[in-house]
Amino acid sequence: MAKKLLLLGGTAEARALAAAVPSGVHVISSLAGRVSRPNLPEGEVRVGGFGGARGLADYLRTERIDAVVDATHPFAASISANVADAAAETGIPLLSLRRPGWEQSEADDWHWVGSVSEAATLTDRLAERALLTTGRGGLAEFADSRAWLLIRCVDPPEPPLPANHQLLLDRGPYTVDGELTLLRTHRIQLVVTKDSGGSYTAAKLHAAREFGIPVVVIARPEPPKGPLVEHVEDAIDWLSRGIGAE
Ligand code: NAP
Repeated sequence: MAKKLLLLGGTAEARALAAAVPSGVHVISSLAGRVSRPNLPEGEVRVGGFGGARGLADYLRTERIDAVVDATHPFAASISANVADAAAETGIPLLSLRRPGWEQSEADDWHWVGSVSEAATLTDRLAERALLTTGRGGLAEFADSRAWLLIRCVDPPEPPLPANHQLLLDRGPYTVDGELTLLRTHRIQLVVTKDSGGSYTAAKLHAAREFGIPVVVIARPEPPKGPLVEHVEDAIDWLSRGIGAE
């Protein structure tokens, strides 16, 4: 009988893994249900929260899940903490898949901060016009910003929003040429981003370097405890060794 894998997703890596699980593994991808038109992975998909760590542990038992891969976004810290607790409680093997963070080159003018709130403070100090790509969550931190902000996110954000802003509803992947055009058109002086890592949204960093403007980078929360890999191939290996085809 096929082994059941719960794959916590919402990332390009999770979609790549769902499409490449070893034979003998039945994957159920889980999405939070945050975006209105999600990029759906191959195979079975469930949508919505579990009801905290306890709800997730119940789900793992009820669905007779054999293993879990947490391939959520590096900044999705609550679900990662919940799944670590649920896996510990049920004894079900858990692997975290976290893409590597972005690496700064000598040509980059990056300013690292520890939170969205610090990013908001620094934005006002560094620029009058900024491109904000930190997602819908945490925009309230920019509500009192003096800068004009071009806010790019997938779905419309909830108020409170900064007084001076323009919304740009869009999703990656982006190209360097496209990002350069955006920076020029809006006379952007600063890019604000989380250290999401990966190639999907990295073009803005190359564009900022080429355009000669600084970037405020929000550092990642601590990675979850336990086994962790950075690449989809390593997650496939883990599955093959652990619960893959007999
Ligand atoms: P979060 O703060 O860690 O999670 C908040 C709650 O949302 C969790 O407690 C859980 O609810 C539910 N949840 C989160 N991910 C889930 C999943 N994959 N399946 C089912 N329920 C999930 O997460 P977040 O930062 O809001 O991110 C939500 C989703 O968007 C994640 O799947 C993540 O991969 C994706 N995403 C996040 C970002 C980002 O910057 N944070 C960027 C791109 C994509 P319950 O407690 O009820 O189970």
